[in-house]
Amino acid sequence: MRIAVVGTGYVGLVAGTCFAESGNTVFCIDIDEEKIRLLQDGKVPIYEPGLEELLRRNVHDGRLKFTTSYEEGMKGAQVVFIAVGTPPDEDGSADLKYVLSAAKSVGEQMKAYTVVVDKSTVPVGTARKVQAAIQGATSQEFDVVSNPEFLKEGAAIDDFLKPDRVVIGSDTKRAAELMDELYGPFVRTGNPIIHMDIESAELTKYAANAMLATRISFMNEIANICTRVGANIDSVRKGIGSDARIGSRFLFAGLGYGGSCFPKDVQAIVRTSKEYGYDFEIIKAVETVNENQKRLLFDIVHQHYAGDLKGKHFAVWGLSFKPNTDDMREAPAIVIVNALLEAGATVRAFDPEAMEEAQKRHFGDRIQYAENPMEAIEGADGLILVTEWNEFRRPDFDAVKELLRGPVIFDGRNIYRRKTLESLGFTYYGIGT
Ligand code: NAD
Repeated sequence: MRIAVVGTGYVGLVAGTCFAESGNTVFCIDIDEEKIRLLQDGKVPIYEPGLEELLRRNVHDGRLKFTTSYEEGMKGAQVVFIAVGTPPDEDGSADLKYVLSAAKSVGEQMKAYTVVVDKSTVPVGTARKVQAAIQGATSQEFDVVSNPEFLKEGAAIDDFLKPDRVVIGSDTKRAAELMDELYGPFVRTGNPIIHMDIESAELTKYAANAMLATRISFMNEIANICTRVGANIDSVRKGIGSDARIGSRFLFAGLGYGGSCFPKDVQAIVRTSKEYGYDFEIIKAVETVNENQKRLLFDIVHQHYAGDLKGKHFAVWGLSFKPNTDDMREAPAIVIVNALLEAGATVRAFDPEAMEEAQKRHFGDRIQYAENPMEAIEGADGLILVTEWNEFRRPDFDAVKELLRGPVIFDGRNIYRRKTLESLGFTYYGIGT
């Protein structure tokens, strides 16, 4: 099949590459000329495990191409995916300007019946707006389908090639069948393609993210209670996770959720509910808890030094919002590092992939960047673990102790054992442990 994917971000690039991998001919379109130039040169502008290799192979085999031209990219395309960003507007609702502008450009270049697929996360009612935007630009026949994306950054390729489920919201049999054909190779092991109406598909994505965010905030609140009553969140987690009705995944306490999805999708569903006259109480609390949680580790550090951080120097391990990505959008590290700097402390950070992003978009030269984890801790008054990259899990603690000026570890992800560290002479702080 010939496919066009509009938007070459985390979702568009992964989707385009994976569709090419399953034998389709794919053109990825983006308005960002620099990004397209990089991709045409065989460089991948984001860090996503496994993506570069897959992308190179499909480019080499001629199934994957990149362009800034809708005219070139859409030539002969039977299906066009819209995977552009939907950042939060000032009031928290999803800003649809990129989606609608892409829809108009798609309409302008439509030469035959086309299925246009909303892959971006968009509020209920957006497919109808996309339909209107295309209709205003073409007289060709087309269908709009909602196909929300559930991939996780850091495991995106696997999630896309072997999805738990594919959700398709459509109005016509013709469009639904084309989507079945396209996704067939990804669900050969029997995972379902779930067909539904467009509005339900649009809401499914928000409901999924809102539920996951709720689990995180819920566990963080239980962790905060643990701290107060002298219980241990890891024991409580295991205790409840073994209940099949609850399940053991997504129950880890920490510094709250970040990233490009949960924060904005939580805000957007609050907004959509309000628009329809409904006050979504639970999810508003989920957001408040998360904001407090992002600051929690700073508060612990602040308290440890009796409120005086002036002149203190800290090592920060991990900047990305979670491991295996360079994405720092809404990362807890932003809140923590900025709070440390404001309090008069200095910071030297290390992250395996996100340091360029950190320097370019968040901290500039206000912090130092280390070449490796051990360099970051040299002479620091304490080590603050913010993102649980695998390489931080088992450091040589004797060397860590030697390099640190003060043997204090603030573990924002509970990856170390209090007992072990205390027996080595560290002061240890975790989240609810
Ligand atoms: P991103 O910001 O990484 O990429 C968006 C891309 O769209 C950019 O390269 C931008 O230049 C391009 N773009 C903007 N307007 C355009 C236009 N008119 N024509 C062509 N290109 C245009 O975004 P992302 O993280 O890939 O997310 C895309 C959508 O997918 C969002 O709605 C997001 O909520 C959703 N989503 C993201 C993830 C994730 O993990 N990142 C997971 C599931 C769903």
